[in-house]
Amino acid sequence: KRARSDKDMLAAYQQDDDISQRRELFIINSLPKALAHNQLYLVYQPKESLHHGGCEQVEALIRWEHPDLGLISPAEFIPLAEYAGMIDLVSAWALEQVLMQQVRWRAEGIHIRVAVNLSVEDMQEGNLPTMVQAALARYQLPGEVLALEITESTLMSNLARATENIVKLREMGVKVAIDDFGTGHSSLAYLKDLPADEVKIDRAFLDGIMEQERARNIMTTSIQLAKRLGFEVTVEGVESDALRKMLAAMGADNIQGQYFARPMRALELEMDLRRLGIARRA
Ligand code: C2E
Ligand code: MG
Ligand code: MG
Ligand code: MG
Repeated sequence: KRARSDKDMLAAYQQDDDISQRRELFIINSLPKALAHNQLYLVYQPKESLHHGGCEQVEALIRWEHPDLGLISPAEFIPLAEYAGMIDLVSAWALEQVLMQQVRWRAEGIHIRVAVNLSVEDMQEGNLPTMVQAALARYQLPGEVLALEITESTLMSNLARATENIVKLREMGVKVAIDDFGTGHSSLAYLKDLPADEVKIDRAFLDGIMEQERARNIMTTSIQLAKRLGFEVTVEGVESDALRKMLAAMGADNIQGQYFARPMRALELEMDLRRLGIARRA
């Protein structure tokens, strides 16, 4: 029997009534091949420090150029990979790519921390710190090259385990950020004992902020709360200079968003170091 090609499979899936469910299955089924055949790649989005205007950290964001479906957003395929129990493969791949990139950048005198997004299963994994340590050792890199971003809801599913992992990662020099802060339906009480370095306020909190005083009050209070607890504060999704100025006045430490820089390929970033305020060391 001849193995069905991806094209045949896609056609069969699309004949089905429930197209969206078939699309999901198709995406899940093509993920292993995507990992093996370089269909995935990373883009890097710089963060601007509002204290000195430069950039000391970028976030790695995954992209998938699917041969049949075109560009698939991580917002679509990451939850599917989680659902299918394949997210550990994606996370390991992303970590590996970032460390290889860091070896190249450091050889070029580019010293910048790169943040990798993790999912809930990664954080529940008891040997996450050991795995990260081994990966760093393989590339002879210090923990300072790396940050890990975890969402609030991810933390809350097993706060004790997550806290244990965070403590160990920070001992290695890896920074830990709480991503999508404010969207996780969790109580604020957990923040008190959380040993993370940074809080990233979700861009949902920018909605209506230019017009509504109440929206501004929520943002100011969130920034001040996080800072009082000792976290560095980054606001995500900043798209204008007006927002940048407002957030600087509110005390935010960093902004990330299209106003400062879009997510870009490594080469593109290397060509734009001066504008981005990324120092190059001899
Ligand atoms: P996130 O970690 O909160 O990343 C921020 C998202 O906001 C990114 O979407 C980024 O492209 C987008 N963004 C940046 N600036 C702006 C802006 O000015 N305006 C607007 N509207 N959006 C902006 P992206 O790249 O589509 O990623 C979506 C989510 O997928 C990420 O949210 C993250 O949770 C997840 N993700 C991405 N890469 C990975 C990965 O390697 N592993 C895992 N587990 N999750 C990933
Ligand atoms: Mg993130
Ligand atoms: Mg986020
Ligand atoms: Mg987000």
